[in-house]
Amino acid sequence: MSKSYKCPVCGNEVDAAATVCSNAACRAQLALCPHCRDITTYVLVERRPGALVRDIYRCDRCQGLGVKCLVWLSGGYCNGLARPGTRLDRPLCPACSSRAGEMMRTVASWTLIGAFGGLLRKK
Ligand SMILES: [Zn+2]
Ligand SMILES: [Zn+2]
Ligand SMILES: [Zn+2]
Repeated sequence: MSKSYKCPVCGNEVDAAATVCSNAACRAQLALCPHCRDITTYVLVERRPGALVRDIYRCDRCQGLGVKCLVWLSGGYCNGLARPGTRLDRPLCPACSSRAGEMMRTVASWTLIGAFGGLLRKK
């Protein structure tokens, strides 16, 4: 399921995780919106200073609100916006949270294999 993403400003085809349009004449700031699941430009709607809260942005395509994914903010390969919650914002964008879930499952299965290995050795 590969989808091609286009910069909404100039129509240039961009990478799904691009944070800036690769067209030198455009250089629009891009993000992957969790609401319309497309590459979009965004505007800052609310600046929230603090360590655990992040600024809120609005998608130009669907007007949905989002906060920048923690992976993105920490310099990872991500351009996703996460849905802001009523009390607590989601830390990761949908793509990163599914990746994190996979990683967790892998760790869990290795732990299980390790436990079984320990049991077998005891015999
Ligand atoms: Zn562009
Ligand atoms: Zn959107
Ligand atoms: Zn992310």
